[in-house]
Amino acid sequence: MNVPRAERLNKLPPYLFADLRRRMADARKRGIKVIRIDIGDPDAPTPDPIVDELCRSVRDAEDPARHRYGCDVPYEGLPAAIRGFYKRRWGVALGDGELVTTMGSKDAIVKFALALLNPGDLAIAPVPGYPTYNIGHVFAGAVTYQVPLQASNGYLVDFDAIPHEVRRQAKILWLNYPNNPTTATAPLSFFEQAVEFGRRHNILIAHDSAYSENTYDGYTAPSILQVDGASEVAVEFFSLSKGFNMTGWRVGCVAGNREAVAALNAVKENVDNGTLRPIQFAAAEALNRAEQLTPAINAVYGRRRDLVVDALNARGWSLDKPAATIYVWAPVPEKYNGSSGAFVADLLEQTGVMVTPGAGYGQWGEGFFRISLTYPDTVLAEAMDRIAKMK
Ligand SMILES: *Cc1c(COP(=O)(O)O)cnc(C)c1O
Repeated sequence: MNVPRAERLNKLPPYLFADLRRRMADARKRGIKVIRIDIGDPDAPTPDPIVDELCRSVRDAEDPARHRYGCDVPYEGLPAAIRGFYKRRWGVALGDGELVTTMGSKDAIVKFALALLNPGDLAIAPVPGYPTYNIGHVFAGAVTYQVPLQASNGYLVDFDAIPHEVRRQAKILWLNYPNNPTTATAPLSFFEQAVEFGRRHNILIAHDSAYSENTYDGYTAPSILQVDGASEVAVEFFSLSKGFNMTGWRVGCVAGNREAVAALNAVKENVDNGTLRPIQFAAAEALNRAEQLTPAINAVYGRRRDLVVDALNARGWSLDKPAATIYVWAPVPEKYNGSSGAFVADLLEQTGVMVTPGAGYGQWGEGFFRISLTYPDTVLAEAMDRIAKMK
């Protein structure tokens, strides 16, 4: 039969990593031992207290609703834990209707676009950046205006460089600090500018805060909701995935502007039915113990960050150590003339080491590559040894 296929799938950007997957398979066939240090997915297990709470609650015969739709019998302890966390961590008191729990941010980002954007609408996404913002726009039939993030500017969005016509038309501006892939952080004063920009131009600011807890050397990341009046024009996407080694659990939240939260909730109620109740219990446990749990997680990434940055710097790079995220972002060596694809292919060919080409995050990611710190020290050390031997 002619299996139907929606036009919108043809509008998705080409999957750049398909080519790299093929190259990896080729390399393996030729007997090269491939070492991947490209994907941002924590290798270390979720901390015991969180796992223990999942096990306890999933077997809790006293809770007859534990297997049921998470949206119909939500565990009130989770929003309470999120509110407590925002209050302790940032001094932010989330108001009534200013919070919805999510099945992770990737899912929520796409649903958010479906909830807020009409076909033909314009929304602004930073480049290089997480591809899902644009994918949400595509599914909503909306159009992405790409705003460049540049090293010369600390990878902060330059609001003045957004053209007047775009300011007039755009409905959403996505931000993400600490940033994937550039590892840049933003001071609270930047979020103040963002809120001011959103208010002046009637653009909802959607801040993706996926790495707020992955920080080092005493740095702590601000929340956009700390800005006075932020909830009039902003929402924040928080996730337990990266900060608590919980990527597979699919749990997070969106907090801030009430109308935007309500619109997202309207999509969610009709699509996802919520997170399993025992996962809600475990996520609450994670947030209630955040100050106890995150230092040990960050100690591991911080040690790996030092290992990778020191090795690259010994080899001719001159990188600063990132204050946050689980990545290292570095320029490709000069001889590749700024082509991240050529560097990544040659690195794989010569050494079997697989990193992510910056071009995969959009045009202004070109010239850079990303290493993920979510691999054991021994794997990262072996990869660094191989990079050191590259011709
Ligand atoms: C990993 C990541 C996410 C997705 O997180 P989930 O909550 O696991 O869906 C969102 N945004 C950025 C920038 C990320 O790197």
